[in-house]
Order: sequence, then C-alpha cells, then structure tokens
Amino acid sequence: MEKNRRQFLLGTAAVAGLGAVAGYSETLSSVVTLGDKGERMADPVYGQAEEPEFTIDSDGKAQPNPRYRVAASVCNGCTTHCGVRVKIDRETNQVVRVSGNPYNLLSSDPWLPYQTPLGESFTRTSGFQEQGNANRSTACARGNMVFDKLNDPFRVLRPLKRVGKRGEDKWEPISVEQLMREIVEGGDLFGEGHVDGLRALRDIETPIDAGNPEMGPKANQLAIFGTGDEGRQAFIVQRFAQSFGTPNFFGHTSICGLSMRAGEAAFLSGLGADPHLKPDFEECEFLLTIGTSPAQAGNPFKRQAKLLARARSDKNLKYVVVGPMLTNCDSIACGERSRWLPIKPGEDLALVMGMIRWIVENDRHNAHYLGIPSQQAMQAAGEPSFTNASHLVVQSGERQGHILKDGDDALVIDERDGALKKASEVLQARLDFDGEVQWQGHRYQVKSAFTLMKEAAQEHTLEEYSRFCGVPVHDIIDLAREFTSHGRKAAIDCHGGTMHTTGYYTTYAIMMLGALIGNLNYRGGMSVGGGKFRDFNGAAYNLVGYAGKVQPRGYRADRARRAYENTKEYRDRVAAGQNPYPARDTWYPFARALESEVIVSSIKEYPYKLKALISWNANFIYGQSGIEHLLDNLKDPQRSIPLIIAIDPFINESSRYADYIIPDAVLYETWGVVRPWNGYLTRANNFRYPVLPAPQERFANGEPITMDSFVIELGKYMGLPGFGPGAINGADGKKYAMDRPEDFYLRAFENVALDGQPVPDISDEEIRLAGLEGYVDTLKRVNGENWRKVAYCMARGGRYDGKERAYNGAVLGQTYKQPISVYSEQVGNHRNSLTGEKFSGVPRYFPQSYTDGTPLSSSFDPQKFSLRAFSYKSSVLSQAVAASDAITQLRYTTYVDLNPATARKLGLQHGDEVEVQSPAAAIRGLLRLRQGVHPEAVAIEHGAGREGEGAITLTVGGQTLKGRINRKSGLNINKLGLTDQSRDGVATLADIVVGSNARQAIPVRVSRV
Ligand code: SF4
Repeated sequence: MEKNRRQFLLGTAAVAGLGAVAGYSETLSSVVTLGDKGERMADPVYGQAEEPEFTIDSDGKAQPNPRYRVAASVCNGCTTHCGVRVKIDRETNQVVRVSGNPYNLLSSDPWLPYQTPLGESFTRTSGFQEQGNANRSTACARGNMVFDKLNDPFRVLRPLKRVGKRGEDKWEPISVEQLMREIVEGGDLFGEGHVDGLRALRDIETPIDAGNPEMGPKANQLAIFGTGDEGRQAFIVQRFAQSFGTPNFFGHTSICGLSMRAGEAAFLSGLGADPHLKPDFEECEFLLTIGTSPAQAGNPFKRQAKLLARARSDKNLKYVVVGPMLTNCDSIACGERSRWLPIKPGEDLALVMGMIRWIVENDRHNAHYLGIPSQQAMQAAGEPSFTNASHLVVQSGERQGHILKDGDDALVIDERDGALKKASEVLQARLDFDGEVQWQGHRYQVKSAFTLMKEAAQEHTLEEYSRFCGVPVHDIIDLAREFTSHGRKAAIDCHGGTMHTTGYYTTYAIMMLGALIGNLNYRGGMSVGGGKFRDFNGAAYNLVGYAGKVQPRGYRADRARRAYENTKEYRDRVAAGQNPYPARDTWYPFARALESEVIVSSIKEYPYKLKALISWNANFIYGQSGIEHLLDNLKDPQRSIPLIIAIDPFINESSRYADYIIPDAVLYETWGVVRPWNGYLTRANNFRYPVLPAPQERFANGEPITMDSFVIELGKYMGLPGFGPGAINGADGKKYAMDRPEDFYLRAFENVALDGQPVPDISDEEIRLAGLEGYVDTLKRVNGENWRKVAYCMARGGRYDGKERAYNGAVLGQTYKQPISVYSEQVGNHRNSLTGEKFSGVPRYFPQSYTDGTPLSSSFDPQKFSLRAFSYKSSVLSQAVAASDAITQLRYTTYVDLNPATARKLGLQHGDEVEVQSPAAAIRGLLRLRQGVHPEAVAIEHGAGREGEGAITLTVGGQTLKGRINRKSGLNINKLGLTDQSRDGVATLADIVVGSNARQAIPVRVSRV
C-alpha cells in the first residue's frame, strides 16, 4: 500500500473518531438546551424521515400516499435477486426506499398467499394489529442501500470508444450510428491496423481451420461473457449467441462456484447441469455447513439466514460451521446448538473423507437405503431416491471402470440369494462386494460402488486425515457420529470454500455424506429446489425457438464439454503411433462453461484464436484469481482478442480493457425473469421490469440503450434471424415482432401467468396501487386479452406457489428423480488430458496440486509460504455493489485478518501495514487480529480493493473523472493467485477435474512493510 493511501486510511479513522465525539457533544447540548440546530425538523418524532408510502386507517384499509408510487422489482445487490418493493417519489422519479416484497419467498417467510389482494398486502406488513410482525418482509442492509448506483456519477450513459492504447483509461463518447457501423463492419478502427467486424465473423459455414472442420465455423470466434443470471441470460444466449451461431457463451460460474456445482452434478448423475443442492433449513435437525456461512453470505443470503435463525431458536436445529474463520453463523445466544469447527483452508476434503471412513467402518450408514438398486425397488420401498451404491464396477479388461449392465439395467448381487440379477428385479442388493461374477459367458472382476468408495476412504487413517486438515480425530468422529444420529433430518451445505484445486472432489465427498444417510428429497434433508413456472417456453409463446436459429457446433473456446479423446489432435497422434498424452492443454468434458479459460485459449491459440469478445456485465479481471499476469497480453489486441466490446453500466476492472463500452440499465431499470438459485421448496419466478426511466442515450425508436435493446438493434442491423417482424412464435401459430425488449419479456411474463391454472385478472384498483397505469397500453399491445393476468403477476413481483406445497408428508413436494452416483461412471472413465490417467470415479483425498497432479508444495518452499490465504464474504460487500458510495459508508475498507498467535510468531501487531506474498505476487493492507481465524490461515474479505467503477481516474471526452479512494480502499485477494506450472504457466490455477478457478487456499507469507 502506498504511504499516502495508508495515511489516508489512518487519518480518516482518527478524524472519524473525533467527529463522533464532537457530534455527540453538540447533540447533547441541543438536547439539554432544547435549542434548534440547522434545519427545523419536519416532524417532532420522525424528524426528516420520508413520509410513509401508505397509511392504514382504523378499518385496516391501506391509503396510498399520493406523493409516492410503490413498484415491485428485483434487487440485484447480490446473486440472491430478492423480490423487493421500490418506493419512488412521483415528482422526482427518485428511489427513496427499498423494502421486501411480502409475496416473495426470498424476502418473507411465510410469504403472503398469492391471491392476497394488493391493498391487504400493505396492511399485512404494517403495524395494524401487529400484523407486520408475522408478515415482515425485508431487504438486507446491502439491498437497502445500493440504489445509489442509479445516480452514480461514473455511470456510462453513452457508447464509448477507447482513445489511445487499450487499457489506458481514456475514452470518447461516440454516436449509436458510429458504434454500430464500426463494430459490425470493422476496419482500421484504432489506427492499429484492420480489425474484423461482427459481420465478417458471422460465418456459420467456413471452418476456422480447413484442416480440422470439427473445430467449427468462424462464427465460433466470437465469445460472449455474462455474469450470474439476473433474469436476462436466456435472452442473450437464446436470442443472440444462438442467432449469431457461436457456442461460446460463458456465465461467471467458473470464477464463482463451479467446483461445487460440478461435484453436485456428478453426485446427481447429471454432469453438465449446474445443480445447487441445499438443506431444508426449516425442518433439518442437524446441519453441517462446510466452507459456507448461511447467516452471513451465500445464496439465498437473506432467506437462509432467516430460516437458520428461526430453526435454531424455535425448532430443534443444531449445526456446525466448518471453515477457517468464525463467522456470524455461530451464535452464543443459542448455546451449544451452534459450533464453529476451525479447519486449514483447502483441506475440507480430508475432514470429510475421514468422516466417511468412520461412518462406513462403524456401520453408521443407512445400509438398507444404499442397497436399493433401482427405481422399481425405490418405489417398492417407499423411498424418494436411490443410489448406485450396489452397482458393480468392472475392475479389469476392456470394460474396466464401467458399470456392469444388461442394456440400461445395472447388474447387482441380490441380497436374498447372492445371485447376479438385473437391478430392476432386485429389492435389496448386496452393498459391499468385491469378487468375480459371470454374465453371459464372461467372467468379470468387480467391486460395488460402495466398496470403491469405502476403499478410497481407507487410503488414509483418521490420524492422517486429521494431520491434513488440522481437525482433531475426536472432532472428526464426533461430527460423523452426530451427522448420523438424526435419521434423514441431517443436511450439508458447501459453496465458495471449494474453489481450490480439489474442489470437485471436495463437493462430491460432502454430498456423499448425504447419500450415506439417504437424505435427498426428504423433509429436513436435501433439496434440489422448488422449480419455477414455465417462462421462456410456455403456454403462449416459444421465445427460445425461432426460424433460422443456429445449432452451434464445434469446439468451445474453453475446451469444455468435450473430452480430449474426442479431438482430431488425439486421433492424429494415435494414428501416428505417438503417445497422445499430454495434450497441448487441458480439456474439460464435465464443465459446462469456463470463462476463466477463454483469454488463455485465445492467447495460446488453442483450440483457436478468438476474434471478438462481448463482455456483458462480466468482471473476470476482478474475480479470477491469478489473471493479473495476463493483463499485458490483454492490453495487446493482437496477442489476446482483437475486438473487445463491453456492455456495462460502469467501467469495471474488465471493461477497462474493452475497445467499446455500451451502456446498460441498472437495478430496477432492467427487465428480467429470474428464479431463486435454491434454498426454497416451491415454485417461484421473480419479474423485473423498468420501474424507473433509464437515463442512458436512446436508439432512434426511443429505447434506452441497454443490453437487450442493443442486441435487438444489432440483430436488425446485421439481419440476424430472430429479430424484427414475425420473429416470435406464438402457441396459436401466429408470429409476433421482436422490436423492443418488452416484446420478449412481457411475453415471458404471459407464459408464467398462464402456466397451469392461469392467474386471475388484475382489478383497476390494483393497477393503481401497483403504479402500473403507465404500462396498460403496452400490456394491451403485447399481451392482448391476457394483459390483466400479466399485470396481476407484475403487481405481485412475479408468481409464487403457496407454502403448503413445500411438503408431501415426510417427503419434499418437489423431488429429484435421477439416481445418486456413489460411483460416477462418467468421471471414472475419463482421463486427465495432461497425464492420460483416469480420474477417480469416487470421492478420494488429493492434496492441493497442479492439473498434472504435481503437489503445489513442490514448487515453493512450504516453510517460507506456511500460511494459506482464503477469501470470505461479509453480509455487506458483494462484488456487484462494492463500489457503491453508500456501501462504503458501512464498510470503508478491508483488512488482512490473522490469528493473534500467528501474528505474535511473526512479530506483527494489530494495525501494522503488511505485505501478503504468494509465490506469484504480493498485496498490501492493514493487519487486523482476530481470534476467530485459523492459526495457519490469512483471511481477506472479498469485494474491495477495486480498480474500476469509480475507483480509478479516467478521461472521458477529454474530461477527467477522478477516482475515489473509498472505492479503491482495501484488498483484492485474487491478485495473489497462482498460474498452473503444469500448463506453461499461462493458465491460472484450476480444479484438477473441472477447471474451475482456484482462488482459495493460496500459499502465502505475511510480513511488515
Ligand atoms: S440478499 Fe442480495 S438480492 Fe436480497 S436484498 Fe440483499 S443484496 Fe438484495
């Protein structure tokens, strides 16, 4: 940290302290003298507080305050995307307050029955007869404050083009016409030579490489980055990427929680999907959360915190939070019901493998459940799920690694007579089996999936596991015993803590604990979520199908969704008699999308070089650990990607390196249909529609420039399929125009409104109460006779099932139907493309390592880098809104958090300016000592230390916009990230199986500056 910044921080603290005292004494003197100070209070009790938006009369009827309108919307303050109510001053069109939407399960529990009249919903959240205590609906601290982003002076309101070199932070505003012409037609756009435009790239016939047509057409050389799906991802993927013809769309999952999702996908026999299993917080009796902290952060942040608090105080929940840091999850008030179990960063896998070992060796697993071998047996047993634990995995010969099957039916040993039979004909199969079987004249050496898992767990002793993770053996045993003491009413949760090199196996092992007690689909157990009403392809329209839509083909730029063995490179090397391993670089057959690999691929031209990138609200430069060393490449259009177009309401750390920036809407100005990630049990869709006029420049048709309107205008300009007249398919056989964002989103709303039993029509009174008067003409134009049903949903912020649908007796209302994989046949039969070795099909302990299996510790001195740095999230900062000035009033900066005993050993004191150094890089910050940090860990809060969104000084149109220190203050842990030594040192460190970015458990040392 530069000295003046340090002094600024320290100076600010001192001034704040004096200010607090001075302010207090003045207030006290005013109180004593009853004197007026400054502006006279509007109200003797409520001071200058805003007037309430409603008052409730003595009959309990809500009377709206004509000064305001209250609109339902969705908060984008974090990835939870809660339904909120936005209070807007009618005269100024300014947001003055945000509160929860009481119909929405992410903001309320219980939430209001869907058909509750809108007027009554205000009464039910008021003090009238204390109803608000039962129906309280909230936005969190962050959600209450982030609307200052709407008026942020650093907002991009016009299209911008870079001036000078890429990354020099100099911009000039350009017209919409110039923007379209240049990005589509290309040319010598920057005086640096010719740049291909999007029209030249949109070639869906000519192969990128004539010698390898399976790589796909030139259109694949456009990549599109998005972020977490806030309700518009279907639009950009289905209506643009697949109209353009590129397979290369990437959300942010690979720098967020991909290892968790991939591990869960393997567990659910659904590799390639992005599941998000969550506990049933309400009915659970024992909860084990590992590397996540449900009362502090995570998703759904607000809802799970509320449910956890209620379950531990009003119900029977006990829980243990495993992590390198004590968080808000542990509550002294609930006594022994909550406990923090400290662990070394990145070693959860050792703890869980130790638990699995103890559970199976002490017969604490549910053997009867695990012996159910098929759907038929599951139904006969009255169970809501089953596993492949009893299925037999071939151990040698050609079929090694495959499950022995007759057609699609696995073969198992019948527990009753010991005979080999089809699983569909067996009620209870032998669980633990290692031996030879005969089938159709062939002999096979086989082991059951359960046996393979048990043997993997037994590869290390409990003492060894304890040494790896730093958790005492007795704690491992106690945890395993407790977890297996609650029948099906025990659950597990994990999330961002698994983002290290063994995150996939860590998650797979954590989920396996659930399989051992059979908790999936059970009340109090684990849930795959409540689902949603059909939105983009539904009762009235198929919004994702249109004439001319392209089925993308070829290799993805991230080398995901394809095995190396399914590439020409592999086949050519085999045909030439060469050892095909190692491949030129990694391939990731089980990953859906790896944003973190795309820049690397283009730099290495493997599998091919990209020609253009559209980055929509993405921030991979801030969020990807270790990417710092790629910045020089990124600054060079020829070495990285020749054309980068950002769609972004702000110039963030990533859009700084764009060539053009196109504005987007912010928060409540946007459209969207978004469902909760998980942590809910009943169907829910949240609607977001512009409840405020957007301040950006407009297209000729009057639409403000946003991602949606830009894509539509670009599609029309380029003549792409799916835009303009007749581009939307109605279920009635009619075609409708795709000219404006409302043409798409209002029809998605209509699908939701009509799904199953259609919702009622809205009354005129509710239109007035919801402030929807201005929408009526548009609704009539787009939704015809269904317009009142669409408005009914909009007034309630979306559509929600009633809470009574959550359970069906002891089972959840929405259940997962596919089997659980105790052995993942898919993973177990694929190979690491660098080593050629097969992956383990069962959870197994691995140390932190490079992709070729070389332990990380082999490339640096473990004595020197003896600590491990990890990031954590607080309840205040999120990357999406960390640069909000209002948020920085709550959290001005972030620190290097260290255990006092560790600091003592290092000769450091609280408040020291320190350097945190990894083998790759160093960052500086202020030291904060906390007892609640593991002695071998360094904790750094995620979200601060910004270099975008107003943190740095920019020039726009010759005018200087000075960066603000409050936005820059603090640290970004991702600057410490490592590169993968086994991959030319160009790629960033990644999970060894699925390639998710490794940002946790970074080896570091700390010293005073
Ligand atoms: S939890 Fe996230 S989405 Fe919900 S109100 Fe808070 S910031 Fe907004």
